[in-house]
Amino acid sequence: MLIRWDDMTDSSVFDVAIAGAGPAGITLALELAKRGARCLLVEAGGFEPSDAAGLDPYRGQSAPRPYPLETSRLRYFGGTSGHWGGWCRPLDEIDFEAVDGVRRTGWPVARSDVYKYISDAYRWLEIGRPEFDGPAVSQELQKVSIELPEKSGFYPLTFRFSPPTRFGEVYREHIRRSIEVSCLLNTDLIKVERGQNGRSTWLLQHRDGRRRRLSARFHVLAMGGIENARTLLWSNQSIENPFAMEGDWIGRCFADHFGITLGQLLASPDLNYNRRETAAGGIMARHAPTPEVLRASLAPSHMIALHPVTEDSFLQHDYGLNAVFFGPNPSRLKLFSVRVVAGQTPNRESRLSLVDDVDANGVPRVRLDWRVESEDFDLLMQSAERFGQHVAAAGLGRFRKTVHRAPAIDESLAAGMHHMGTTRMADRSGQGVVDGDCRVFGSDDLYVLGSSVFPAYGYANPTLTIVALSVRAAEHIAGRLRTVS
Ligand SMILES: Cc1cc2nc3c(=O)[nH]c(=O)nc-3n(C[C@H](O)[C@H](O)[C@H](O)COP(=O)(O)OP(=O)(O)OC[C@H]3O[C@@H](n4cnc5c(N)ncnc54)[C@H](O)[C@@H]3O)c2cc1C
Repeated sequence: MLIRWDDMTDSSVFDVAIAGAGPAGITLALELAKRGARCLLVEAGGFEPSDAAGLDPYRGQSAPRPYPLETSRLRYFGGTSGHWGGWCRPLDEIDFEAVDGVRRTGWPVARSDVYKYISDAYRWLEIGRPEFDGPAVSQELQKVSIELPEKSGFYPLTFRFSPPTRFGEVYREHIRRSIEVSCLLNTDLIKVERGQNGRSTWLLQHRDGRRRRLSARFHVLAMGGIENARTLLWSNQSIENPFAMEGDWIGRCFADHFGITLGQLLASPDLNYNRRETAAGGIMARHAPTPEVLRASLAPSHMIALHPVTEDSFLQHDYGLNAVFFGPNPSRLKLFSVRVVAGQTPNRESRLSLVDDVDANGVPRVRLDWRVESEDFDLLMQSAERFGQHVAAAGLGRFRKTVHRAPAIDESLAAGMHHMGTTRMADRSGQGVVDGDCRVFGSDDLYVLGSSVFPAYGYANPTLTIVALSVRAAEHIAGRLRTVS
């Protein structure tokens, strides 16, 4: 149900208070409701996209690398699902593995644990066919993607698509009709306070400026990968009894998936790496290095896509006329750009911090210093080159490298707009912000949900994993509600 600020009294009692009504918060609230928990869902925006004033808290600084802090997220009911693209794929097994704890740090929980409720996540995201790799998929991709021999070390994979589900539209009525969920719109969580007994209290502010405090049995931050960290940073800086977390991890290890075009390929015009519709829904081809290759190289997880280049004139087009390589009909060749999309190696220096400038609510704005290690770029360039060599060796095309140096620290990168890592999950305090259940270290009643908890990022878009984690968190918190008096 929707509730108004004035409906809230000191006797309003909730099992769980959730800040943020994006995919993470809405999934959690409705899954908890199914399990009988009474939830308060606090959302900064209303049902319509925020105007400039409503977006003001998202303004910040990004330096030296420019980053679209404002346009990469939305601030209203449904969150950034209001303009997401619906690309879906779970993270790979290797993304969960630690390699010597050095460059690839992995997750502290198993993949099977994170995706225990993945069939629920498919349902929330309205994904028809949840098969991503394997023989059936290779069959679907036949002729439209390059078929490399197994020994090449690259394999074909797919993305599937959510319609895309706009949570604000699709689940608005579910929230309205729910008895267990009380949704308070146009209300900001300002900070989390912590009593001497360690219990959390929220300071909330209505759009008209009125403030109040509220405590539930459990509290969940689900405000997106930047606001989760910003709120924790500000809380810890301004309250008397900060969260007893070791290691200064809040806001650190900010990561995004970035795309970079590293070369060009002359190949069959029948290749199609764009989204295609099939009877079973949308599908899109990509290639990735096999886990064995990735383990040996220590490159960050990445995938390779080919995009048609429209102009016909290609230097050395004579390649395409060489029947030795391309058979009797070489003039049918087409030019593609070779684009690599990657996660990045977690980097403590890639971080959000607070600046002196404050927003209209008096909360300090963020400064983002997004770093990608130059070693990551070097390894990705090598991988693209290796891909090109294998395509040539198989007689399927000709590759030309077009980028020869890593982007400078102040150059913009094509960002996926997936804000990850800033409240990273770890198996013990001193190595991250939340534990394997997404609970803040040093707190019994405060949780964080969303891609800010990802300790390793893979190359796959994050929302499927976010929603799977939210269902998992609902099961965990409902279990604690049954046992904690
Ligand atoms: C252009 C674009 C395309 C994308 N495409 C894809 C894609 O194809 N596939 C994919 O997997 N992902 C994609 N994403 C990412 C996807 O949108 C996010 O992963 C997803 O929305 C995150 O969900 P969330 O609930 O964690 O956060 P959000 O969706 O950001 O929701 C956070 C909510 O918290 C609210 N909030 C913020 N501050 C406060 C506060 N102080 N108090 C109360 N409430 C607050 C906000 O108003 C918002 O409703 C895309 C993102 C962008 C920008």
